[in-house]
Amino acid sequence: MKIAVIGASGAGLYAAIFLKKNHPEYEVHLFDKNEKLGRKLLATGNGHANVLNINTSGEHFNHPSFFQKYQKDYPFGELQHQLASLGVILKKEKDQDYVYPVSFSAPSYVHYLAQLLEDLGVILHMSIKVLDYENGEPCTLKTDAGAFSFDELVFVTGGKSQANLGSDGSLFPVFKKHGYKIVPLKPGLCPIKTKEKTKSISGQRHKAKVTILLGDVVFREEEGEVLFKDDGLSGIVIFNAASYINHLENPERLSIVLDLFPEITLTALVADLFDSMSKHPSFFLDAYLPAPLRDYVMKIAGVGVSNVASKKDCYQLAKALKGMEFHVDSTYGFASSQVTIGGIALEEVDANLRSIREKHVSFAGECLDIDGLCGGHNLTWCLISALVVAK
Ligand SMILES: Cc1cc2nc3c(=O)[nH]c(=O)nc-3n(C[C@H](O)[C@H](O)[C@H](O)COP(=O)(O)OP(=O)(O)OC[C@H]3O[C@@H](n4cnc5c(N)ncnc54)[C@H](O)[C@@H]3O)c2cc1C
Repeated sequence: MKIAVIGASGAGLYAAIFLKKNHPEYEVHLFDKNEKLGRKLLATGNGHANVLNINTSGEHFNHPSFFQKYQKDYPFGELQHQLASLGVILKKEKDQDYVYPVSFSAPSYVHYLAQLLEDLGVILHMSIKVLDYENGEPCTLKTDAGAFSFDELVFVTGGKSQANLGSDGSLFPVFKKHGYKIVPLKPGLCPIKTKEKTKSISGQRHKAKVTILLGDVVFREEEGEVLFKDDGLSGIVIFNAASYINHLENPERLSIVLDLFPEITLTALVADLFDSMSKHPSFFLDAYLPAPLRDYVMKIAGVGVSNVASKKDCYQLAKALKGMEFHVDSTYGFASSQVTIGGIALEEVDANLRSIREKHVSFAGECLDIDGLCGGHNLTWCLISALVVAK
């Protein structure tokens, strides 16, 4: 059996490794248009490779029930066991569910996987762009370096986020030509541009409860650190919000409300502010916020330090601190997104992730219409889908 895995990053590396490990008699070939393998993997987890999440479950994905089917066979313990069978040791970040290779280094992890490929005898074809293919017996892979014959093709070509790292979405029109339904591609896990001007607080960070609202209806709530940018909001919690927003049909009228002090009620915050103000009327707010955020909050509360004199003024300030509202203008685009929403529709594959249209074609990873939240969920899907295909 001669198999081509197309895409040598997150899911592709795992697929090639487990295919060859499970079936040493197979000839496994790994293609990528990049010169070096694992380009995107190198960028993950801020260079640390957040490869798994202990609590990955369906709710972290756009298609919870689809993911849940696979999670039953591949709970965290099984994924850890599968990686351990390759010699990969993991470590969990303190107080978090995020899991990393013990080296805490994406370059070390990619280097280790590259050595495994070599050790197992996977044949690499780097700097080769796949242009099209023919399903058949054999299948033909058409590339910019000529045509190759294989018994099976596994496409692991990703979405179109951060095309500089490799996956540029160029094969989706090809899949469409082959009859596959493609769910429209949108950027996920990215910063959000707001209608309100945020330049004066650009670079500031604050923990917040982030609520996505349409009128009075709450769509989503999550706590985390928000980073203010020149033109909007960023940070993991905002990336997750952006994915949520871009999954909606009409996100135009949504607003994002930041509660900068979620651990304290409005009434208690008013009382605290009033108490602080009574002690140091000219600088009491400096105890709560750095100067740029302080000035921003005073502006939206409609008060200046010099005229904060009453409980009513403290109430206005507390309301601004617990209800900083931003109207969504748009999200950042693919160049700044960590995952692509959309892709090959899930009804195009069977339970083994084999195409229902083309007998010798399978898909894994992000090229399928499945995307997860930040925190190792997307690489978890890469590993699970690669294991399914390799099995
Ligand atoms: C900055 C950043 C940080 C991230 N951090 C995390 C994290 O910490 N944890 C997490 O779980 N997820 C993270 N992600 C998301 C995660 O990296 C992706 O979901 C994952 O890499 C998808 O794997 P994949 O193999 O499906 O696609 P990709 O990793 O995109 O790989 C696809 C490969 O296919 C190749 N290819 C595409 N088209 C062709 C073609 N026509 N011919 C030949 N080769 C082709 C590409 O060059 C590429 O190497 C991050 C993403 C980014 C951008």
